[in-house]
Amino acid sequence: MIVEELRNISKNYPMVKALQGVSLKIREKQLLLIRGPSGSGKSTLMHIAGLLDLPSRGEIKIMGKRAPRNDAQRAKLRSDFMGFVFQQFALMPSLTVLDNILLPTVFSRTNRDGRAAELAESLGIEERLKHFPNQISGGEKQRVALARALVNDPRLIFADEPTGNLDSKTGEQVMKLLRRLADGGKAVVVVSHNPEHDKFADTVIRMRDGKIL
Ligand code: ADP
Ligand code: MG
Repeated sequence: MIVEELRNISKNYPMVKALQGVSLKIREKQLLLIRGPSGSGKSTLMHIAGLLDLPSRGEIKIMGKRAPRNDAQRAKLRSDFMGFVFQQFALMPSLTVLDNILLPTVFSRTNRDGRAAELAESLGIEERLKHFPNQISGGEKQRVALARALVNDPRLIFADEPTGNLDSKTGEQVMKLLRRLADGGKAVVVVSHNPEHDKFADTVIRMRDGKIL
């Protein structure tokens, strides 16, 4: 099933055409890998697909319905359907691992403590829940970021260079986790510049100068 579709998306910044007519489909149970040199538009594409940024032109459909342009509606769709993982982990240093994982649930009325504990266990960080980010390794930080992205059980996961700050072995482990999520039914979109990661993907798209090759 197609979870999200981008049609003919362009994004212009004052001096740069960051995206020039990009189209793609994001499907459940699939890992879509985006590769390309620095500056080719990968993060811009992720931000637009993740409703963090608006395109200059083009159409976005989520579950068959046109994505809203209104900020509050976009925020609601993001928190209901999407999880995000970034290269720099983006954990809050003053919060414990458990509270970092629970951060996206602050605005939902559901109690997710049990789910957070389950996720931590499945990611092998259950011993770290009371630690602070500066007390754990890079690989563990990225697992915490993954648990945080998953705590609201999103259909769609966006990961922008999630292995960029990890050694190659730890990076492979993170890619395996993302692969497992796709096998479990999620739609997973990953930016990576490591060709070794192609083997984890169902589809690889290559970008250059704001276009898909
Ligand atoms: P990648 O993630 O592939 O390295 P980006 O999507 O970050 O590429 O950037 C694509 C192009 O858009 C680059 O030329 C970059 O400098 C430019 N760009 C990205 N974000 C902005 C912004 N907020 N304002 C101006 N230019 C931007
Ligand atoms: Mg980038």
